Amino acid sequence: MAFGQPRIEYKTNAQMRTMHEAGLVLSRALDAAVAAAVPGATTKHLDDVFAAVLNEAGAKSNFLGYHGFPATICTSVNEEVVHGIPGSRVLNDGDIISIDGGAIVDGWHSDSARTVIVGTADPEDQRLSDVTRAAMWHGIAALATGKHVGDIGAAIDDYVSSVPGKPLGILEDYVGHGIGSEMHMAPDVLNYRTTHRGPKIKPGLCLAIEPMLVRGGIETAVLEDDWTVITTDGKRSCQWEHSVAVHENGIWVLSAPDGGAEHLVPLGVTPVAIP
Ligand code: MG
Ligand code: MG
Repeated sequence: MAFGQPRIEYKTNAQMRTMHEAGLVLSRALDAAVAAAVPGATTKHLDDVFAAVLNEAGAKSNFLGYHGFPATICTSVNEEVVHGIPGSRVLNDGDIISIDGGAIVDGWHSDSARTVIVGTADPEDQRLSDVTRAAMWHGIAALATGKHVGDIGAAIDDYVSSVPGKPLGILEDYVGHGIGSEMHMAPDVLNYRTTHRGPKIKPGLCLAIEPMLVRGGIETAVLEDDWTVITTDGKRSCQWEHSVAVHENGIWVLSAPDGGAEHLVPLGVTPVAIP
């Protein structure tokens, strides 16, 4: 173990099953927010719709009040990368918005994000979202087949580099993370290949895997609201995220109703329910 590395929290099966409950509530809340992301809707409306599902399920928000964050989701539109604050902004036809949310059940956290193109999609935005989403699934598959956390970023990087056509940038300023009794925990989960292998993948490890890709340069800045992160070149950005558990029999995507089967089986990985 390296000095200065915070300890990783390894979960019991029972704890991971509770995280799965939190993930399922979150998945339903995201379904509702995604369905509400239509031209003319405000980002605040998406937040209201998302919060209502959490309330109905008796789940708590891990975003609301996090370092003072004022909403239950982050809504990041177009050149906004992450941490956009829901408000009076009205969604327009062709906007690309990432909706990032989380839920807590009995003290255990989930965290997941999806990108939606509002109304008519620019084909380049659609490609950005499709590649980011597929990159996330390649990263998740690497959690099942790899030995070290660094294998995830390598798989994401290799996949994104292999996509034909205009290259897309992988953000380096924001990364995935461990998750469990808190939303953001050790270890960091980079979305790109480095020489650092990272900690070993073993049962009880739960990670939020969340590649963020951009159509232009990877340099970012934070707006005066101290939250909203934008690309400095104004090019569009995208994020997809799932929380995933490693247990003794395999992996299970906590924030997907099917454990990720639809997207993982084609990559050679069959998710296994937490025992
Ligand atoms: Mg998130
Ligand atoms: Mg996250």
